[in-house]
Amino acid sequence: MAQAVPDSVLAETAWNKRRLYALSNRIGPSGTDYDLTLPVTAPAHSEEIGEIPELGEDDVGQAVEQTREAAKEWREFSVDERAEVLTKFANLAADNRKELLDLLQLETGKSRAHALEETIDVPQNADYYADKGPGILATESRASGIPFATSAEVQYDSKGVVGIISPWNYPLVLSFADAIPALLAGNGVVLKPDEKTPFTALRLAELLEEAGLPEGVVTIVTGDGPTVGSAIIERVDYLTFTGSSETGKIVAEQAGRNLIDCSLELSGKNPMIILDDADVEEAARGAVQGSFTNAGQLCLANERIYVHEDIYDDFLDEFVSQTESLELGADFEFDADVGSLIDSDQLERVQSHVADAVESGATVHTGGNARSEIGPYFYEPTILTDVPATSLPACEETFGPLAVVESVSSAEEAIEKANDSDHGLNASVWSGDRERAKEIAREIESGTVCINDPFLVGWASYDAPMGGVKESGIGRRHGPEGLKRYTEPKTIATSAVGPLGPIPGVPDELFAKGFSAVSNIQRRLNQLRR
Ligand code: NAD
Repeated sequence: MAQAVPDSVLAETAWNKRRLYALSNRIGPSGTDYDLTLPVTAPAHSEEIGEIPELGEDDVGQAVEQTREAAKEWREFSVDERAEVLTKFANLAADNRKELLDLLQLETGKSRAHALEETIDVPQNADYYADKGPGILATESRASGIPFATSAEVQYDSKGVVGIISPWNYPLVLSFADAIPALLAGNGVVLKPDEKTPFTALRLAELLEEAGLPEGVVTIVTGDGPTVGSAIIERVDYLTFTGSSETGKIVAEQAGRNLIDCSLELSGKNPMIILDDADVEEAARGAVQGSFTNAGQLCLANERIYVHEDIYDDFLDEFVSQTESLELGADFEFDADVGSLIDSDQLERVQSHVADAVESGATVHTGGNARSEIGPYFYEPTILTDVPATSLPACEETFGPLAVVESVSSAEEAIEKANDSDHGLNASVWSGDRERAKEIAREIESGTVCINDPFLVGWASYDAPMGGVKESGIGRRHGPEGLKRYTEPKTIATSAVGPLGPIPGVPDELFAKGFSAVSNIQRRLNQLRR
């Protein structure tokens, strides 16, 4: 049973204990009542808002089997019918934006402005796939072995059950950017949100059913990451994981042992390159957005900023000044710019990175302090320079409101430093000459490079793939690539002349000559067509 929790924060929102309790009861396979033993806390307000069950391996097994059964009905829907459900879902998600914003802010502690990005993204993504998906999944005619005599087509079958394991930093986006295409392709989905942020995913699953998704096609499971995560990977037909590179490697090993394909969206240590001809005010605005959106708890955040020496001082002054004007807070209005960190682990991580850099000689230009009077895990947006290459923020992802700025003497030096990393998720290049910036973008080892924008221009290009290189991951979400990963392409090849091979009554030698001649003519024609 849910314990009595204070209503003080909930009372400011569209949510109450009864509604959150009803969401908790949707967790796991249907027909089973679980004890709610894991507390969920509103980090900005240090208040318990609800509880969820801690499922075990058998519960997950049952959840996958129920989802597999429910998905059979869903697969019978045509792709156009599935797209209609997604369109209705997009409208419902947009219509219910206010309560989703409240819920997101409650469970993550992010500012309302940053929560807004998530609630805009989900309907946009669903609309994109509802619009383009049927065309991407349509059966295609392909070149066959012998023109006129044979033909080949490829159809895109669903995989079965897709497992999605997602993190706490963008609980709506990072669950549903991947669930939406998986559903359009006709799969069932077993989704494990992070145990810190389960409620927004549960509410969206409810909206999907309201939009016409048959019950049980999306099942949400919660509990200990390694236990529940591993039980999912053991049973599903495809796995999408978003989280740290460290966990991603464990997940990939298990997926490999089970011979299932997976996409891994992992950590970043993203560079921002500001060339000598960049607009300083614009670049500073981009740096504020790129470093402090979601209090820096963003895989695409710019943690390393390389600025051409000619504009370094002007940029740093402007960046510091814009950063100092940011308001911290997480009220349920659009007043605050930057919200809370998610928990004490994140706060300690940011503090240890700043302390290590400062002890090694770094200069703090602004920030550097926790702000416990606002909430237990608030930390000031912080800008450092003179950060030694061996210190923590230079070597590891901080995943917090910390930007490291460094002067470079040329574009070549900036490219070299940007590429000197184990990660390659996102990068940005800033210049008054967009063609010059594109030339540099081509040299950067990264899944996405944004020009004159820190990350949104790439993310919001729904038709273009997103993902990482090196330790930032495998596979892509968004675009045709993000949909086709959830399918098994099946080739259906047809002969109009019976079995291909020796023709009865034709001597073998004559057949061999004729076959070779036809093959040679065909190859020549193909070469002439190139
Ligand atoms: P994490 O790897 O600790 O956890 C991610 C998810 O995996 C959680 O749901 C967790 O419960 C689960 N999990 C934990 N251990 C598991 C195991 N052994 N097997 C299966 N699942 C397991 O990551 P986090 O700290 O929650 O998230 C922050 C990290 O995620 C950062 O490194 C960030 O850069 C990265 N991230 C990447 C993207 C992207 O799109 N590339 C997006 C957001 C966050």
